[in-house]
Formats: sequence, C-alpha cells, structure tokens
Amino acid sequence: VIKVYSEALFQEDIRIGTILVHRDITKEFEVDQMKSEFVSTVSHELRTPLASILGFTELMLHRELKPDRRLKYLTTVYNEAKRLTALINDFLDVQRMEAGKHTYEKKYFELLPVVESVSNTLRATTTIHEITVTSTAENDWILGDREKIEQVLTNLVGNSIKYSPNGGNIILNLFETNGILRLDITDEGLGIPENVGDSIFTKFYRVDNSDRRKIGGTGLGLAIVKEIMNAHEGDVTFTSKYGNGSTFTISFPIVKREVTSSTDKVGVQ
Ligand code: ADP
Repeated sequence: VIKVYSEALFQEDIRIGTILVHRDITKEFEVDQMKSEFVSTVSHELRTPLASILGFTELMLHRELKPDRRLKYLTTVYNEAKRLTALINDFLDVQRMEAGKHTYEKKYFELLPVVESVSNTLRATTTIHEITVTSTAENDWILGDREKIEQVLTNLVGNSIKYSPNGGNIILNLFETNGILRLDITDEGLGIPENVGDSIFTKFYRVDNSDRRKIGGTGLGLAIVKEIMNAHEGDVTFTSKYGNGSTFTISFPIVKREVTSSTDKVGVQ
C-alpha cells in the first residue's frame, strides 16, 4: 500500500512543478486491519458466552425448573463464565507480553507429570477424542514456570481438540533428542494449509478457511505459546498435512539432574 503526498512548488508565484512523496504504508495498513479485526473478534468472543450466561440465568430466575434441568443450566453458566475468564486472561497476557511485563517464576520440575495432569483435565472435556501420553525420556527435568508451561500445554492440546471437530486420536509423545527434551502433540484434525507457515504464531492470526469458520477463537493462543517457549530458551514448531492433522512440537534445553543423599539438585548441562 503506497500513500502519495503531493505539494505544488512555486518560484516567484510561478508554479514550476510538483513534489511527489511516495511512502510505503503496507505495515501500518496491515496493523490497522489486524486491530479492527481484533476488535470485532473480541466483541464477538465476549458476547457469545455473555449471551448464554444471561439467557440461562433469566430462565432460572423466571421459571419453575426441575432440579436436573436447573443443574444443567447452572453447569452451562459456570462453563461459559470460565470461558470468559480464560479469554480475558488471554487478552491480559498479550497486553503484558507487549509491555514486556510477563514475569516468570522458574523452578526445576519434571515435565511428564505436568503433561499427564493437563491431559487428564482436558480428557474430561471430550468424549470423541482419545488422548494418549507416551514417554521415552529418561530425564524430563526442566527449569521453568510450571503455571506457564501448563498454559502452553493447555493451549496446544486444547487446539488439537478444537480443530479435530470429528474427534480422533491425540498423541502426546515425550522424548530426548540431541540434548533437547521434545514433546510432540499429534492430532488427526483439520490440519493447517501449506501457505500459513510461521504466521500462525503471530497474535490475532487465525486460519479463515470454511472448514473452521464456526470454531471460535481469538488467534492469541499460539502467540502466547511462542512467547512462553522463548522465555524458556525453548521453541515451538509445527508440521501439518492439510486435511490430515497436525503435530505441534515444543522443545526445552535438557537439564541435568544430580541426585544427592538428601535432596535432588539439578543444573543446566
Ligand atoms: P485460535 O484458536 O484462538 O484461533 P491460536 O493462536 O491458538 O488461535 O491458533 C491460530 C490458528 O491456527 C487457528 O485459528 C487454527 O486455524 C490454527 N490451528 C491451531 N492449532 C491447530 C491444530 N491443532 N489443527 C489445525 N489448526 C490449528
């Protein structure tokens, strides 16, 4: 996108020419476009759960309801309120990320139990996906912020569920390779079009294909994952076959665990 400014040039009241200034404003234009898309995404994403919370509470206030119905409505209200909280937290996270205010409290811990616990939580949210965790890593210690790593895993496994609308297997495989601890998260879902590349990790970026237009989201999840992995000297990458599923991989530097008589100590190798 080119913006052109023109200015007439005079010499002793006689117009002797025009100055033309061409400025490439593609970047500004793209940012503006992303921002307005963001505003409409945010309002849509906030409105949908709010509408359902209002609708169900209104029903409960004004109708006599059998206890099982009441429980069903209350559960919906609770889940939608939780979804709103998660959304708002995502927005705030991105805000903090941009202000450079994301703080990390790093400790040594083993990754596999965290992977298993997140998988258990998410397994309970679906009946059409089979979530399996396998590990061949002898050493799965990392130096990290446990909550943030839980968020990374929740976003990635959550996406595997969300973008496999017809169900399928989701396999989480933890292993060591070349001094790196890797976790592959593989699904059999919609996959990612070939031309997408690393822009998938840009904030607000969403794949806008007809196969997923009805699936809600803000395009923030993977940007947050990228930022957290960078802060752990790690990385996140993906491979995919459009229509046949995707594998997202996170990797961490391996940390050496030294067992002493009384306490476990670990240090970077
Ligand atoms: P959101 O899910 O809110 O759109 P994300 O940043 O988590 O935001 O993901 C960005 C886009 O990447 C999504 O819109 C989706 O199209 C695509 N995507 C992410 N994970 C997967 C996956 N496991 N399978 C297919 N597409 C995915």
